[in-house]
Amino acid sequence: MFGGMQEFELRVPRALEHAEREHGTREIVTRWADGSETRTSWAAIVHDARRLAQALERMGVRKGDRVASLAMNHHRHLVTWYGAIGAGGLIHTINPRLFDDQLVYIANHAEDKVLLYDKAFEPIVERLKPQWKTIEHYICYDPAPGDEGFEDVIAREDGDYRWVEGDEREPCMLCYTSGTTGDPKGVVYSHRSSMIHAMAEIQPSVFDLSTRSVALPIVPMFHAVGWGLPFCAPMVGLKFVFSAVNDPAVLCELMNREKVTHSAGVPTVWFAMFQHIDKTGQTPEHLKLVTIGGSAAPRSMIERIMKMGVRVNHAWGMTETSPIGTIGALPVEWDEMTLEQRLDHSVRQGSAPFGIEMRIVDEEGKVLPRDGETSGRLEVRGPWVVQRYFKDESGDAVNRDGWFDTGDVAVIHPDNSMQITDRAKDVIKSGGEWISSVDLENAAVGCPGVAEAAAIGVHHPKWEERPLLLVVRAEGSEVTADAILDYLSEHVAKWWLPDEILFVDELPHTATGKLLKTAIRAKYKDHKLA
Ligand code: ADP
Repeated sequence: MFGGMQEFELRVPRALEHAEREHGTREIVTRWADGSETRTSWAAIVHDARRLAQALERMGVRKGDRVASLAMNHHRHLVTWYGAIGAGGLIHTINPRLFDDQLVYIANHAEDKVLLYDKAFEPIVERLKPQWKTIEHYICYDPAPGDEGFEDVIAREDGDYRWVEGDEREPCMLCYTSGTTGDPKGVVYSHRSSMIHAMAEIQPSVFDLSTRSVALPIVPMFHAVGWGLPFCAPMVGLKFVFSAVNDPAVLCELMNREKVTHSAGVPTVWFAMFQHIDKTGQTPEHLKLVTIGGSAAPRSMIERIMKMGVRVNHAWGMTETSPIGTIGALPVEWDEMTLEQRLDHSVRQGSAPFGIEMRIVDEEGKVLPRDGETSGRLEVRGPWVVQRYFKDESGDAVNRDGWFDTGDVAVIHPDNSMQITDRAKDVIKSGGEWISSVDLENAAVGCPGVAEAAAIGVHHPKWEERPLLLVVRAEGSEVTADAILDYLSEHVAKWWLPDEILFVDELPHTATGKLLKTAIRAKYKDHKLA
């Protein structure tokens, strides 16, 4: 027997229709890179999304097709998410900070049909067009005067359009993660997973969003589903404020003028904000809650924001978890806690909202106690956690019991809050973007005179982590750090270049001859970059 309630597919356009109907006049503001501004509303955004869906259909986009974006945060990008999804397609947000070969791989693997892009990324588009095999249509959001662009494309349509219907388990979005080595992997979100995740996110104990909220996401929309905000926003009809540039002076001014109450971003953006505050004395006056994630939020950062009277939500998650895994919900005793106790609590990565189950396990998969001392691999499962990567013929991304191994190492405290203690995956996270240690090492050993190299992330005050490269010289070689850097700059992106190169006599290895990265990381844990 089934329950006696209505079948109501949880599809993204339901949220769009809700926003249009119930919050139609609520504003959406974009501040462009040139300082100009666009003010629109939920009703207009949803109308534009229908027009874009019509245009995409005319271009041949059908159910299940991928529509890609290469763009910063602005309302046209938001319209693209909704229009692509409303037309039955998948919005595929591409991170413009990836390298060319990754950008080529991702768009070809996704078989993107249409690409919408910011003029600022035109050099990437021009460079890679010949290698992108499947993209048939290119649409620029902000073309040079006289050239055709996004607004012209939607202006030709009347918006008399019915969203493509279907099962709630059909896909609506694709994001690639370059978190580990090897080719980037695609995570395919369903309408259902996105809607359930968004409903969880708007709760008071998660993002605490309502129609009264004014949200300025500093996290780019191409980063792990823009942390889900573009799906929560229409559910509550909040006022969205976008900045196409991430300059702290611009952000601060915008926050004050638009009375922004909620913001979200990686730790690096808050460091930049502090510098601006120190220089100008200007502070965000209306902020109530900021979400910090992507990398561990340092205690000093949390303290400073708290002292501004703003609640700090320290969140942990990944592209594979839509992205919310855990969140810094306030504990029952919060009101009675001292500042130090609050900080002790907030430096942890938070607790699991309903929808996420988490556990820590040892190497054999045995579940470890929540004692705040024993650390193990963090595993999660739930309706918005990845099951299988896009087109992955090798099988599911979860273990036999259905748990997904996050590659993070954590302890779970007796109060059920989780704290990341290490990372099992061999990567460095700099300013919210990944650097593959293995790729860096492989590039370095190609340099004449280098026998062996190990790259690890060490703490950096601005970027969270930066690469330190340990090098064993080949016998008789006198290769210098400068020579290695010169060589590397031909092979990796500039921002991947190690901040320091240290020459060592030998590096520790495992029994099978692999670099013993845990030992190397432990030894240089407190290394201060030169
Ligand atoms: P995002 O783009 O949101 O950072 P990714 O999938 O690129 O998502 O990265 C996820 C990884 O980032 C996690 O597995 C973890 O290693 C790291 N991470 C995310 N949030 C935190 C946090 N609050 N503290 C420590 N590490 C974090």
